[in-house]
Amino acid sequence: RGNFVPPIRNNGGSTTINSRVTGKNDDPMEDSTKKCLEMLCGPDGELPEKLRNLEPRLIEHISNEIMDKDPNVRWDDIAGLHHAKKCVTEMVIWPLLRPDIFRGCRSPGRGLLLFGPPGTGKTMIGKAIAGEAKATFFYISSSSLTSKWIGEGEKLVRALFGVACCRQPAVIFVDEIDSLLSQRKSDGEHESSRRLKTQFLIEMEGFDSGNEQILLIGATNRPQELDEAARRRLTKRLYIPLPSSEARTWIIHNLLEKDGLFKLSEEETGAICKLTEGYSGSDMKNLVKDASMGPLREAFQQGVEITKLNKEEMRPVMLKDFEAALQQVRPSVSASELGIYEEWNKQFGSLA
Ligand code: ADP
Repeated sequence: RGNFVPPIRNNGGSTTINSRVTGKNDDPMEDSTKKCLEMLCGPDGELPEKLRNLEPRLIEHISNEIMDKDPNVRWDDIAGLHHAKKCVTEMVIWPLLRPDIFRGCRSPGRGLLLFGPPGTGKTMIGKAIAGEAKATFFYISSSSLTSKWIGEGEKLVRALFGVACCRQPAVIFVDEIDSLLSQRKSDGEHESSRRLKTQFLIEMEGFDSGNEQILLIGATNRPQELDEAARRRLTKRLYIPLPSSEARTWIIHNLLEKDGLFKLSEEETGAICKLTEGYSGSDMKNLVKDASMGPLREAFQQGVEITKLNKEEMRPVMLKDFEAALQQVRPSVSASELGIYEEWNKQFGSLA
């Protein structure tokens, strides 16, 4: 492995992938980095133009940490949100699958905003889009760009768009996009975050005007913080609300059924749904998790040792377990917050 020579065309000299990227032949480069760059080379064995001036370690980070080649979420895993799913299918999945048809006046917007309370399935939708459209999924949270990559965010953004370009069709999912593209006053804005925002908008502009098969999805719980430039680029803006009662039933059923634990009657499920008005999808997941501990806690109280517990003899998860769990797991979104989303949806949403 020490003598590893990447399959890069040698233009008459001793050009290796190191020199292609760094301009130096003697620069030490980890094998893992070389491998990563190698996988991004075209059929001619050359690194694509867009990646040549990027730092190899950033390309590696994007490929290993941010890129997800197999986002295994499908539409069927997401409860409710039928209208959002239908719109997304038409607006983004079809164009990614059939770029030849979606040209001219059918050409799709390249930016989609998913907004709404936390834990309602925005990230799941992003992954499902990539899964359904057979696209490479890139996930980045704005807070990691602004906190973890201080001073390097710009370079990382360039690397992100560069690698996405080589992995088309691609979906770039930017979580908490408000902290990247917020409307903070420029004098109060930190210089580095202003540069990061500019770089991001430049990159978006770049693929918006080209024929790239890249979709940018921004997710936010604070849409009101986005400025006008951000709204202009995120042409479709979908409200992802709290789950309906039907969707909450589905989540309970689906999660328990996966482990063969669903034994509740229709009335019992209905009662749980009534009690969980205002719970997000993620709250529901936490509730089911807590309720599913009920039989174990009861057995423990009766003096049964966990090591001696017979799985087959354990009682099913019951309504009383949910009632106890409801004391522990409270809804994470307040009614006043919902009002803000609904207002913003009326003003700027695509489905209002
Ligand atoms: P968001 O991105 O809106 O904050 P996520 O998509 O990350 O929320 O959802 C967090 C978790 O909550 C998911 O992994 C899933 O278990 C659950 N969840 C949220 N919404 C739904 C939904 N509509 N259907 C099924 N599960 C959901």
